Amino acid sequence: MMKKKYSDCFYCGVVVEERLMPREVRWEGRLFVFENVPMGVCTQCGEKFLVPQVAKSIDSMLQRPRKPTKTLAVPVHEYKSDVV
Ligand SMILES: [Zn+2]
Repeated sequence: MMKKKYSDCFYCGVVVEERLMPREVRWEGRLFVFENVPMGVCTQCGEKFLVPQVAKSIDSMLQRPRKPTKTLAVPVHEYKSDVV
């Protein structure tokens, strides 16, 4: 029997499917965005799970950043309570 790549969801116990998703990582005060990262996504609660190999690859890309594919401009908002 083939070993499943992802265990069932840690939180709700349902099937986790692999998808290519964006992942944002803050590292040394900078925000890095990785696109098309293979990760397990719970089909019920949407919780995401990384296999150790993928987490390791992201770490090594952070250690030795290459030229980014593209750059995003991100709006930043100061938090202000709107609750009356
Ligand atoms: Zn779940």
